[in-house]
Amino acid sequence: MPKILPNQRHVCLVIPVYNEEEVLPILLDALVRFQASRDERVSVLFVDDGSRDGSVSCIQSDKCALKDVRLVSFSRNFGHQIAVTAGLNLCTADAAIVMDADLQDPLEVAGRMIDVWKKGYDVVYGRRLVREKVGWFERVTARIYYRFFRSFTGVDAPLDTGDFRLISRPVLEAYKEMGEQQPYVRGLISWLGFRQTAVDYVRPGRAAGTTKYPWRRRFDLALDGLASFSGKPLRFAMRLGLFISAGSVLGLVWVLFTKYVFQTAITGWASLIFAAFFFGGVQLFFLGVMGSYLARVYDEVKGRPRYVIQSSWQSERVPSADGP
Ligand code: UDP
Ligand code: MG
Repeated sequence: MPKILPNQRHVCLVIPVYNEEEVLPILLDALVRFQASRDERVSVLFVDDGSRDGSVSCIQSDKCALKDVRLVSFSRNFGHQIAVTAGLNLCTADAAIVMDADLQDPLEVAGRMIDVWKKGYDVVYGRRLVREKVGWFERVTARIYYRFFRSFTGVDAPLDTGDFRLISRPVLEAYKEMGEQQPYVRGLISWLGFRQTAVDYVRPGRAAGTTKYPWRRRFDLALDGLASFSGKPLRFAMRLGLFISAGSVLGLVWVLFTKYVFQTAITGWASLIFAAFFFGGVQLFFLGVMGSYLARVYDEVKGRPRYVIQSSWQSERVPSADGP
């Protein structure tokens, strides 16, 4: 284990963990090799998002050769985006790299991110060229979503990127100021600006274990992203309402015209009931849209802490070259 040198740069890997006991032994081994291969000081900050399996004991195990590790455990499961946010806020390094525990974000790419950061960039994000072991439906919906998000919200968010990215100290400080209750991390980091660039990579499948992101959560994340960056759905409701009202006035004029000028009544009014159902549905939908914005405002106003840390733990520290 190399000693920490004065002025040595410090990069912290921020890794959210939720019931990952199957993959953690593989990850820990890979991290030991990664630490040994780098000139910088590489520390690891695990955020345990309320795991109920053996993840925590795996990280704290005496058998684990990894040094310079910090583990903070939430009091329950708060969700991936909150776990990442906690990690970014707690990290004190010169740069943080957000990565998943399942080795889908390869360490070799993290190394490339560090090299690019040293050239003077503030944010280096991983852009997925290919996603291995992913079904066509997920691949297509994700591709469409990223494009839709960008054109819909006007945020200059890079396409086909998740949360795997290096974030330098100035950006971390700016991120701390964003106390959103339901943070959409990748969107917020793009929103912050600074000098951002990409490294391309092939995203492998999970090294072990199963996904902790079921479809319902994925869908919620997608909606959260849109709602936290744009109030357009609310304005769209207004426009649609205006359009339909104007159309119905024209329809009424036409009905009266045929009745009094042509002396005929339009037949087929049974279709009216379907029109009523349809517009009933449209109204309920937009009531739901408004409700979801209202719920976000309600969450913000309550101002509860976003996460609760139950315990924290620190491994043996890497010895410093200039003292204990
Ligand atoms: N994760 C978390 N809290 C959760 C769900 C997931 O901290 O509620 C972590 C998980 O342990 C992993 C990362 O978030 O490190 C990404 O999850 P996963 O790999 O299951 O998602 P996928 O890659 O399938 O989208
Ligand atoms: Mg994964």
